[in-house]
Amino acid sequence: MKMIGPTNPSRGARRPLGLDEVRLTTGFWADRQQQNAQVVLPHCITWMERAGWLDNMRVLGAGGPAAGRRGREFADSEIYKLLEAHAWEAGRSGDPATSQFVTAWGATLAAAQAGDGYLNTNFGRPGQAARYTDLAWGHELYCYGHLIQAGVARLRAHGTDDLVSVTCRAADHICAEFGPAGRTAICGHPEIETALVELYRATGQERYLTQARLFVERRGTGLLPPGPFGREYFSDRIPVRQARVLEGHAVRALYLASAAVDVAVETGDDALLDAVVHQWQRTIATRTYLTGGMGSRHEGEAFGDDFELPPDGAYCETCAGVASVQLAWRLLLATGEARYADLVERTLHNVIAGGLAADGHGFFYTNPLQQRVAGAAPEPDALSPRAATGLRAPWFEVSCCPTNLARTLASLAGYTATADAGGLRIELLTGAEIHTTLASGRRVGLRVATDYPWHGRVRIQITDADGAPWRLSIRVPGWARGATLTAGGQTHAAVAGSYAQAERAWRPGDELVVDLPVAPRWTFPDPRIDAVRGTVAVERGPLVYCLESVGLPGGVDLDQLAIVTATPPRDAVTSEPETQAVDVAAIATPSSAPAAWPYAADRPAGAAAAPHPVRLIPFYARANRGPAAMRVFLPEHRAND
Ligand SMILES: [Zn+2]
Repeated sequence: MKMIGPTNPSRGARRPLGLDEVRLTTGFWADRQQQNAQVVLPHCITWMERAGWLDNMRVLGAGGPAAGRRGREFADSEIYKLLEAHAWEAGRSGDPATSQFVTAWGATLAAAQAGDGYLNTNFGRPGQAARYTDLAWGHELYCYGHLIQAGVARLRAHGTDDLVSVTCRAADHICAEFGPAGRTAICGHPEIETALVELYRATGQERYLTQARLFVERRGTGLLPPGPFGREYFSDRIPVRQARVLEGHAVRALYLASAAVDVAVETGDDALLDAVVHQWQRTIATRTYLTGGMGSRHEGEAFGDDFELPPDGAYCETCAGVASVQLAWRLLLATGEARYADLVERTLHNVIAGGLAADGHGFFYTNPLQQRVAGAAPEPDALSPRAATGLRAPWFEVSCCPTNLARTLASLAGYTATADAGGLRIELLTGAEIHTTLASGRRVGLRVATDYPWHGRVRIQITDADGAPWRLSIRVPGWARGATLTAGGQTHAAVAGSYAQAERAWRPGDELVVDLPVAPRWTFPDPRIDAVRGTVAVERGPLVYCLESVGLPGGVDLDQLAIVTATPPRDAVTSEPETQAVDVAAIATPSSAPAAWPYAADRPAGAAAAPHPVRLIPFYARANRGPAAMRVFLPEHRAND
């Protein structure tokens, strides 16, 4: 069976390879997929049982009362994301127990679904508000969106079953209720739109696309009340095709932009696609953190103004990282431009990988780039507040991020390679086996072997080819100046921020090698990002680095260090192999008690101490050594300081 991944546009510059065409085999992402299957998914089930969210649905299915329902109004969506993750994972691994979990839950959902297709544990029963009486905050359509994405995953990875039937009944109900002859309304949280387009792609039923387009076009026309955070919180201040930049609640804005790309691609609406491309460009240029994180403000979980990117106040929700990957991936498929895949890589390696604890049992909801004080360990058996920073928590009162990570990791093979008219493209540089049929009808196979991101060599060996010519392309990240491509015994320079390509009549055993310069490098922020002016960060390959207080020599204060950029950053000689550390030279101002008034007529005196090395670790690996203060951007020491 052909196992198509989460996004399958009917037209565009690239075709995404399916989950049956790409298998992650070894390395950074294969390890995380294994951990997702073995640790994260069972962890999510345990906590959702404990929180009562799974029982909510069982009780509804058994015809029980609403009285004991637990959790927030959108708790059903967590069941659906958990099911989506299991559906992809069952398809990937073929594990019968994982598949059985989805089958059993399909039956539970079928029992809980009303005769007309309505399904929600928070509305409509005696003692609850009536259906669709709180579209701004009730999240009913948002929950359907996640149900539909789970149904699409099951349909593609397995075939029709109860979950797929429940999904289609719910989607038909939405079309009847909110279609041209129904209510002119939208949901406070976008998500249904992109889900309906994907269900259209999976089933061919045009009404789902029509409904998605209606929802996208209705947004920005003032259908929702303004609320405490303004209309932009709901992505409802301005129609999506008129917007110039992403604004308001980051996850909402990114899901809506993803849907706009989907609708534009399926309806041939190039003006709508162009609008999102321009929004993305300005958002990347002025409203995105070095990690790929998005959302500068805790209030409204929102994008800030241009260049408003405080490292300590950053929200950078893990879900916004997931949503940003979804948007950039859609833009890559539509346009074929490498810059979108670059952002996918940056966000995956820093936000997504960092959202998960080393042991797989903890999650970050927010991902700031500075932790001023060492956080306290969360209560091991209690739900944590979502914006608690410092250490990862096992679960949150709003726990959207863990299941969002789980479904992303389970389907990551679908973000690894694409096909175009001339051949095959490697987008995500990670150990993989790939077999596909090219547009020309030729079967090809290859093996990607690499220790990336720790080492920069990516070796691709052809395992299946019939001797006809085709083009093999490997993405060379934008930071990789000095990269080379070796094929057929010849080495050429490869251009950073594009694809290194070789077209030939490949034979099994042929090799192509790309060498990327992953040596640590300085990164300086645009001075308009005033919160980090005068600072420097370290990157190494796609990884952003940070300095934690737990790694500092005794008596050295993280806030009093300045980095000597005249001495280049270096790979640490002794280091954990899985988290290559980087040493930089720093000068520490001696610690002193705060002055009575921390402002003065004279500039503070610079430190006279000799530089000494401090050790940085990858940002994603922070907070795995206990409570720690942490910084990504460190003040730069200048010679005359
Ligand atoms: Zn979240």
